[in-house]
Amino acid sequence: MAVSLPIDVSLVKGFLADDEADALYRYGCVQAANGALLEGGSYCGKSTLYLSQACRDTAPATAVVYAVDHHIGSEEHQLGEMFHDPELYNAEEARFDTLAEFRRNIRRAGFEEWVVPLVAPSEVCAKHWQTPLAMVFIDGGHSLEAALSDYRCWAMHIQRGGILAIHDLFTAPEEGGQAPIAIYRLALASGLFEPLERVNSLGVLRRI
Ligand code: SAH
Ligand code: MG
Repeated sequence: MAVSLPIDVSLVKGFLADDEADALYRYGCVQAANGALLEGGSYCGKSTLYLSQACRDTAPATAVVYAVDHHIGSEEHQLGEMFHDPELYNAEEARFDTLAEFRRNIRRAGFEEWVVPLVAPSEVCAKHWQTPLAMVFIDGGHSLEAALSDYRCWAMHIQRGGILAIHDLFTAPEEGGQAPIAIYRLALASGLFEPLERVNSLGVLRRI
């Protein structure tokens, strides 16, 4: 299924392959009718656009996606690191900052009524979190500490039958960091989740 968005998504900066985007949209459509969606790691809003399109198409009056990101980038986005983008560097404040670009993309798509940006570290957003979640997409920091923290912050709030999707699963260390797959394995080992599907580097699990 190829979903088309209101804006040209090829112009949106981000880290999401087309097949992964379609899978996010597909699961988002099923889950948006059951409860809130949440993503940890929005960057410039690419994944947010697919999840909010699912909200709009499925349950426009009630569906919502909480988009968690402190917007100062992960380790690999910082000045001098491999995935640094100079266009997203705020020289005046001497820091990487994706918030303006994120807001611009959501606004241009006309998706503001389905997106709640939570601009703070995951751990801060999760402090008093009580809302059950129908779908959680984890695509935040790639250090083991960051990935474990996202897992601990959000997985426990997924309601029965809900979805946990984790991005950047690489089986071989040569392909990429091992933190996302470590939390994927942790979720399986907990006995609380069953594997549903692997799409490219996206792993999809269901809360039993
Ligand atoms: N989902 C995005 C890509 C996310 S990149 C897309 O579709 O393109 C990872 C993001 O995680 C970065 O924007 C970074 O700022 C954010 N991030 C990393 N660690 C975080 C933390 N502890 N809390 C909140 N956001 C974090
Ligand atoms: Mg990713």
